[in-house]
Amino acid sequence: EAGELADQLGCEAYAVGGFVRDILLGRPNLDLDLVVEGDGIDFAKKFASRVGGRVKAHSKFKTAVVILDDDQRVDVATARLEYYEYPAALPTVELSSIKMDLYRRDFTVNALALRINPGRYGQLVDFFGAERDIRNKTIRVLHSLSFVEDPTRILRAIRFERRFDFQIGGQTMRLIKNALSLKLFSKLSGTRVMHELQLIMNEEDPLSCMLRMQELGIMEAIHPLLKLTQERIQILTELVKVHNWYKLLYLEPKIVPWKLYILGMTAGVKRDQTTQVTKRLHFTPKEEREFLQLRDMIGEALMKLMGWKEGKSKLSRLYSILHPIPVEGILFLMARSRKEYIRRNISQYLARLRSMAVDVNGKDLMDMGIKPGPVFGQILDKLMVAKIDGRVETREDQLKLAKR
Ligand code: ATP
Repeated sequence: EAGELADQLGCEAYAVGGFVRDILLGRPNLDLDLVVEGDGIDFAKKFASRVGGRVKAHSKFKTAVVILDDDQRVDVATARLEYYEYPAALPTVELSSIKMDLYRRDFTVNALALRINPGRYGQLVDFFGAERDIRNKTIRVLHSLSFVEDPTRILRAIRFERRFDFQIGGQTMRLIKNALSLKLFSKLSGTRVMHELQLIMNEEDPLSCMLRMQELGIMEAIHPLLKLTQERIQILTELVKVHNWYKLLYLEPKIVPWKLYILGMTAGVKRDQTTQVTKRLHFTPKEEREFLQLRDMIGEALMKLMGWKEGKSKLSRLYSILHPIPVEGILFLMARSRKEYIRRNISQYLARLRSMAVDVNGKDLMDMGIKPGPVFGQILDKLMVAKIDGRVETREDQLKLAKR
C-alpha cells in the first residue's frame, strides 16, 4: 500500500533502520520506519486514510506517526532533497537524500534502506557496507566523529552488540575508548543516559550489557558510585534470574525493569548518597521519592523476614510484610534472600497470594445489616488473613466469620 501511494505521489519511499536490519537477521520486528523523499507528513496522512488509522504529525521535524487500527505504528520521516551549491561555475549537485538520511544514523547495521515503490520493491539500498557488517556480525559507526557527536551511541553499540551477539569493530572500539578518555560521558545529560540505560534494562540479557559497560569503565564514567563491584554483579545475576522467572509466569502487574536493576546497581550505597545517583540520572522528584521509598521498604522487609520462620510463622504475616511493597521490591527481596524457604514462600506469594481476594464483598456486609464505614475494611482484612491462613476456605465460612 505505502509503495503504491509513493508511486502515485511521484516520490521514493523506503523502509529503514531496525526493521530492515531485523529482516536480514531473520528476527521479528513490528516497528516499521519509513523515509519518504518528498513530503512525509502529506504521505502519512494519505497513507492513514487509505489503510485506516490516525496520524500524529510533528511539523517541526517533518515526521509523523501513523497509528493503525490494530495499534501497529508506522513512523514516517521526510528526507529532504538537499542541493549543494558550489561556488563559481560548478553545477549544483543534488545529493541523494536517502543517503543523507542514512548517514546521520548510529551504525551501519541500522543504516540500511529497502525500496518499497512497486517497480523496485525489495531492493536493498546499502551505501555503507551494512550487509557485509551484518554477515560479519560487526557493529561499526559510519564516521569517526560519531561518538563525539552523540556519546549515547556508545551505550547503543553495547546494546546491539550483546543483543545480536555481534562484536564492536576494531576502529569503532578505538573511537569509543577515545570518546571515553575525553570524558564525553560526564557532559551527557542524565535524561539521555537514563533513557539508554532503560533500553538496556529492557533487553533480554541486561547483565551482559552492564558487564561490558563496566569493562570499558562506563559505569564510573556515568557516576563513580555506580562501579560494578563483585557483590553487585552477584546481586544483578540473581535479579536477572528472578526477573526471568517472573516474566515466564505472565503475572500482573508487569514489572518496570529499570526499577529492579537500579536497585541492584546501587546496592550498598547509603541513603543520602543514593540521591547523588538519582540526581545524576535526572530522576523526576516523584521517581526519586518512590525509589528512595522502595529502598526503605526493602530494608524494613528484610529485617522482618529474618523473623519469619516456615511452619512456625503465619502465611498472613508474610502477606502483610510483602503486600505494601511494589513488585520490583518483592523481586529484589526474593533475589536477596539467602534462605531457600524464604525465596520459595515469596515466590508463592507472587504467584498465588498476591492476587488472592476474599469471596465476600461490601454488598454482602450491607445485606447482613452492617453499616458501611471503616469497619468494612477491618472485616475484609480479617477475612483475608483467615483465608490466607486456610481457616476459611469457602464463601459460607467467610460469611459466618464476618457475622462474628
Ligand atoms: P530496536 O530494535 O531497539 O527498536 P531500532 O534500531 O529500531 O532498535 P530505535 O531506537 O527505535 O532503534 O531507533 C530507530 C533508528 O533511529 C535506528 O535504527 C537508528 O538508525 C536511528 N537512531 C536512533 N538513535 C540514534 C542515535 N542516537 N544516533 C543516530 N541514529 C540513531
